[in-house]
Amino acid sequence: MRAGCQNHPEREAVGVCVSCKLLICGECTTRVDGRGLCASCIAADKRTTQLPQQGDARVALSFCVLVALTIMTWGLLEATLPGSAWW
Ligand SMILES: [Zn+2]
Ligand SMILES: [Zn+2]
Repeated sequence: MRAGCQNHPEREAVGVCVSCKLLICGECTTRVDGRGLCASCIAADKRTTQLPQQGDARVALSFCVLVALTIMTWGLLEATLPGSAWW
């Protein structure tokens, strides 16, 4: 018995979507982080998981930039000001 792709019943399925567990052919399989996903789950994945992750990364990046700028500003101040007179 041959199992067909959910989108192309005439084609033989080569894998299973890791999210919805439906059989999919090679053309319908998209690799995301080493996992095989069908087209509809890719669309759902983008809406649910990827957008918040990007938001978190942006917040973390902004924080790192802020810390780096603060350190650089302090370094510049200490380099420009005559230390003995001010501190
Ligand atoms: Zn799926
Ligand atoms: Zn297919």
